Amino acid sequence: MASQVVKDSKIQELIELDKKHYIHPTTDPKLLAEEGPPIIFAGGEGIYADHVNGDRYIDGMSMLWNVNLGHGVAELADAAREQMMKIAYASSFKGFSNEPAIELAKKIADMTPGDLEAVFYTSGGSESNDTAFKLARFYWEIKGKPSKKKIIAVSNAYHGVTIGAQTATALQAFHEFSGSNIPGLFVHATAHLLNAEQGDKNDPQYEESIRAAIEREGADNIAAIIIEPVQGAGGVNIPPEGYLQAVRKLADEHDILFIADEVICGFGRTGTMFGVENWNVVPDLMSIAKGITSGYSQLGAVVMNKEFRDTLVSFEGVLAHGFTYSGHPTACAVALKNIEMLERDNVLDNVKAMEKVMRDGLAYLKEKHDIVTNTRVIGLLAAFDLREDRENDKTFAPEVKAAPTIVDECFDRKLILRPLGMDRIAIAPPLIINKEEVEKIIAIIDESITAFKNKIK
Ligand code: PMP
Repeated sequence: MASQVVKDSKIQELIELDKKHYIHPTTDPKLLAEEGPPIIFAGGEGIYADHVNGDRYIDGMSMLWNVNLGHGVAELADAAREQMMKIAYASSFKGFSNEPAIELAKKIADMTPGDLEAVFYTSGGSESNDTAFKLARFYWEIKGKPSKKKIIAVSNAYHGVTIGAQTATALQAFHEFSGSNIPGLFVHATAHLLNAEQGDKNDPQYEESIRAAIEREGADNIAAIIIEPVQGAGGVNIPPEGYLQAVRKLADEHDILFIADEVICGFGRTGTMFGVENWNVVPDLMSIAKGITSGYSQLGAVVMNKEFRDTLVSFEGVLAHGFTYSGHPTACAVALKNIEMLERDNVLDNVKAMEKVMRDGLAYLKEKHDIVTNTRVIGLLAAFDLREDRENDKTFAPEVKAAPTIVDECFDRKLILRPLGMDRIAIAPPLIINKEEVEKIIAIIDESITAFKNKIK
């Protein structure tokens, strides 16, 4: 009992210190300063993450869609330790290099589709996208087409929060935050207009399509198009069949680079190693991060095809872009072990098998609860929408906070999920989850929806 009191007072102290000294990312700072963090993570194992008080939660979001191999994986920790004891950090500037960075570059070249063959390392997704934008523009300068500067991004896209990535991001709160987006260099089109992108000018939204944006801006002014194969934070939106192929074709026809933002999809999340492989599309540039290390270390990269690599190498002078942590040896060693485990343990087979269990579970929720609609799943990336009146597609009033309330109910039942706005809930558990655990997630969501319905009665 005495030790419990000590523990409780220690937790209380942590909460107070957090409230006072820790400004959290993507968080309501006022609310946090008043209420403190709902959970202080102190441990974890597999799909579970533990609060410092010992309460165990199912991590139904793999934290931020990144802890793909789950928590507490000793082999990943060992890989980090082993590399740290050799040399923890080494510069990659001015031609310096290190073994894990070289080996990982080769591994990524081998495992990515098509002719993707070289990498530029970063520390995360936003840096990867900013790097992709800058390299794409630089590529066209080398090619003697310096006017090709604009980047096309699509509605509901999330590409990160550095100033370039924020400008590409379409989600309003991020896009507009602090008035920091760069005017003039980015163009937005509407996502997933399959017919328009295939050339159908009668599509009612044709003017909003990527195709129309290219016509309007002129291909001579456009460097690249960036697309998430499956949109994550913007709603877990799976593109219509044929869409990514149509955009690939459009890019080829107009001499525009195709950047796939694989920050969430990469490394197995959608049941294939990379999201684009679901549609047999090979991008010119690919942004990766998150699942490359399962979150055990901060790492990202831009993967480029052979022609792009050869063009960069043809430039005489310094490539004036690079981060202190580009090619971080410890992060690269962790990534190598993470990829080895993904392959060795046939994790993609598990993702495919669990996709089916998740699909059945979501179908059950939709059948049982008339407020559940638009259930979707690809690999272990899933979501569903909430409607007050499903038949007439009527959303709940925003003040009902349908998705956040249900997510809170789940949290009370020791399941972490994420609301995407007021009407959508995402589910993206670690890729090593088993059938019983997926069913447990569904059972908790089921109870939580019932609790929500009782609340609003
Ligand atoms: N792109 C996508 C598709 C993402 O989901 C994210 C992060 N959620 C990012 C880029 C930004 O990555 P980071 O937070 O590592 O900068």
